[in-house]
Amino acid sequence: MESKYSILLSLLMLQCLSLLCVSQSQDFDFFYFVQQWPGSYCDTKQSCCYPNTGKPTADFGIHGLWPNYKDGSYPSNCDPNNSFNQAKILDLISNMQKNWPSLACPSSNSIQFWTHEWEKHGTCSESVLSQHGYFDTALSLKGKTNLLEALTSAGINPDGNSYSLVNIKNAIKGAIGYTPWIECNVDASGNSQLYQIYLCVDNSGSDLIECPVFPKGKCGSEIEFPSF
Ligand code: 5GP
Ligand code: 5GP
Repeated sequence: MESKYSILLSLLMLQCLSLLCVSQSQDFDFFYFVQQWPGSYCDTKQSCCYPNTGKPTADFGIHGLWPNYKDGSYPSNCDPNNSFNQAKILDLISNMQKNWPSLACPSSNSIQFWTHEWEKHGTCSESVLSQHGYFDTALSLKGKTNLLEALTSAGINPDGNSYSLVNIKNAIKGAIGYTPWIECNVDASGNSQLYQIYLCVDNSGSDLIECPVFPKGKCGSEIEFPSF
């Protein structure tokens, strides 16, 4: 009799555990995939520093892949026991140096930037992406979304001129298929400029989607696209 009860009890416990697992795999709704224009990081009052590997190419670089909720809020720093470990991504480092360079000062090998992004954002998607999977996914998204080409083929060039925000969005929507969110910052003389471009990705990291919600913030209707 007693053993029947204990079997029942363990079955119940197993069911509870499996329910927990299901709710854990739903721990965020989608990702923002955020790319930054290096010219706009560097020409602000704060300025920038090139990484040890030298001046990055004049292209958008990855800022991060950020798990988000549909209500606009987001989880952060989800697992202090899963710290950044370079040994897990050795095969990706050279690709990351090219496509995910840090422009913060002082000059570095970008590892602090990747550590920050993994620990703040990456750990919140560990139910779907391993550490290697997280960086690999971001790199492959970058490969699938050539923002600079989307803009330049629409005549929008990083030449210090101003372009209409609507034209910028339409150029990206036309080339990539999804409406982006544009984040602006201000250069040293106070002009509003194209700083970061947000695209949305489903919660497995595989496909671009239309953004369920956009971040807050405002650009001018005409914004500068500085050179780098
Ligand atoms: P800022 O205050 O400069 O907009 O954002 C600072 C940092 O907060 C970002 O680099 C990013 O790590 C995080 N952050 C800002 N907005 C969002 C958001 O909408 N979703 C997520 N997941 N992170 C965000
Ligand atoms: P967030 O919390 O905004 O995702 O991450 C930004 C943090 O990464 C800041 O502490 C910033 O100093 C650092 N960081 C290092 N390199 C870069 C870079 O190239 N661009 C940006 N936006 N932040 C960087």
